[in-house]
Amino acid sequence: MVKILVASRNQGKVRELEQVLRELNIEGVELVSLHDAPPYPDPVEDGLTFAENALLKARAGAKATGLPCVADDSGLTVKALNGMPGILSARWSGTHGDDQANNDLLLAQMADINDRRAAFVSCCVLATPGGEEYTAEGRWEGELLREPRGENGFGYDPLFQPADADGRSSAELSAEEKNARSHRGKALRALAPHLAALQ
Ligand code: IMP
Repeated sequence: MVKILVASRNQGKVRELEQVLRELNIEGVELVSLHDAPPYPDPVEDGLTFAENALLKARAGAKATGLPCVADDSGLTVKALNGMPGILSARWSGTHGDDQANNDLLLAQMADINDRRAAFVSCCVLATPGGEEYTAEGRWEGELLREPRGENGFGYDPLFQPADADGRSSAELSAEEKNARSHRGKALRALAPHLAALQ
């Protein structure tokens, strides 16, 4: 059994990766979340791309625990805003993790803009203590709604209408429906063979 650290405090992300491993029949991997690992300081996320920030987190986790480590960095990229909020998605309004304020600001900025094209992006990285590094990126295309819809998910989900969800917002999808389509699901599925190869 290979132990792999998932560098996230979000149990939802650990469950998503578990689901992907099950789906691909990858056995012999035990996922350890940050709650179950010895504490270490969060790295400063000063990268300028999703990949740089995911690498920072994966390297820090592998170095601190001696376990192979998976980390992800993700966000919403809006065409008419030149790709922003991008890596600033979690703190777009200035306060880290204030979903309501982030969504309100984005809606106000986009009020007069008819080109609503947007995508969620996730970059997932596997880093081993021996210095191997694998990167995978996933995109989920769609459009920004003009007002929030749906109760599921988190972050910008109520404002995002994926191109492949029959007109529903991503906050109107079940967790399974979202994982099957999402940016993170795609990136994790692309990374999974490298996890299987660790054994
Ligand atoms: P992090 O990669 O978990 O730090 O997420 C960055 C930010 O991007 C989150 O705080 C959300 O605002 C946004 N985000 C990333 N993935 C999603 C998603 O699947 N749904 C909604 N918002 C997301």
